[in-house]
Amino acid sequence: MSQRFETRAIHAGQEPEPAYGAVCTPVYMTSTFAQSAPGVHKGYDYSRADNPTRTALEQNLASLENARHGICFASGCAATAAVIHWLGQGAHIISMDDVYGGTRRLFSQVFSKAARTFDFVDLTDLDAFEQHIKPETAAVWIETPTNPLMKLVDIEAVVERAKRHGLKVIVDNTFMSPYFQQPLSFGADVVVHSCTKYLGGHSDVVMGVAITDDDGIAEHLHFIQKSVGATPGPMDCFLVLRGTKTLAVRMKQHDENGRRIAAWLDAHPAVERVIYPGLESHPQHELAKRQMNGFGGMMSFVVKGGLEPATRLLKRCKIFTLAESLGGVESLIEHPAIMTHASVPPEIRQELGIDDGLIRISTGIEHVDDLIADLAFALES
Ligand SMILES: *Cc1c(COP(=O)(O)O)cnc(C)c1O
Repeated sequence: MSQRFETRAIHAGQEPEPAYGAVCTPVYMTSTFAQSAPGVHKGYDYSRADNPTRTALEQNLASLENARHGICFASGCAATAAVIHWLGQGAHIISMDDVYGGTRRLFSQVFSKAARTFDFVDLTDLDAFEQHIKPETAAVWIETPTNPLMKLVDIEAVVERAKRHGLKVIVDNTFMSPYFQQPLSFGADVVVHSCTKYLGGHSDVVMGVAITDDDGIAEHLHFIQKSVGATPGPMDCFLVLRGTKTLAVRMKQHDENGRRIAAWLDAHPAVERVIYPGLESHPQHELAKRQMNGFGGMMSFVVKGGLEPATRLLKRCKIFTLAESLGGVESLIEHPAIMTHASVPPEIRQELGIDDGLIRISTGIEHVDDLIADLAFALES
């Protein structure tokens, strides 16, 4: 019988170590491996190509997305870059418009100079998506929910249209983690994560992964991994392996705290609106319930009065740390227009709706009453 998520999170890829029976996969801190004769070794020859700690993590992460192949990279952006490398010269890629700022920068400022072209399209509009498909279109890049506006893309619907045109579908699943959303089950070809966020979960490591069940795609990505060499070190792999063991319990708490805080903010007189897929007021609440098994800890809200009150609130928070990033056990708060999305040109920020009063929070797993008290104090005038 196939094991459940919580069990696989703890055991997949991690047999007790053969030499001494260590329960935790050791940190194989080595660049190279002894060979008994030229070309004769125990499966590993050089750590850029493969390392046993990394293998354990790759199997673990693949298992969480119900796939066979996980290919780890030194960051989420490096995983994204590997996928675009795989798509090859001349590829046209249709990307969700409201993607992670670093993804947008990588697409529009790096790969657009390396024989790829991109269109940024609101993929909640399926007809607009289809209208942008050209003969050279190779793939569609989905991020859902988006960052920071928490727009949802219907993965199954996009896959259905994409497949009619022979396009590959890639989903950045960082915000939900495989605990709450499994894009491959809706027909996506590749899932990408910034492991820096929920998978690592403790804000102590930067890493990325691409996951697929397709042998051919996996072979390409492994080739790019070892050839380009943006690989994570064994210590980083150990940290993410330790993180995924508690992914299920952490995600449950992020979700519970997220729901409570969203409802509380929604009722606060100083808050103009709250954008959280778990609120009935979210325009895609029904899709959220269908596509995700929970709503998670990410939300955005707009404070009344714009930049000045928003800045004051950010400075007054004590438990919520003013910092970029998300997905860790500690609660973080940030200002997208000035911080995470500063690399997005102002006119595009405007178009997307990332205005000056917009604040994004990553709800941690502290006691929710302390988090609410912190926000209450910060929102008081
Ligand atoms: C952080 C993030 C990335 C990039 O990951 P890094 O590990 O910072 O390189 C990509 N996508 C999303 C949704 C992210 O939040």
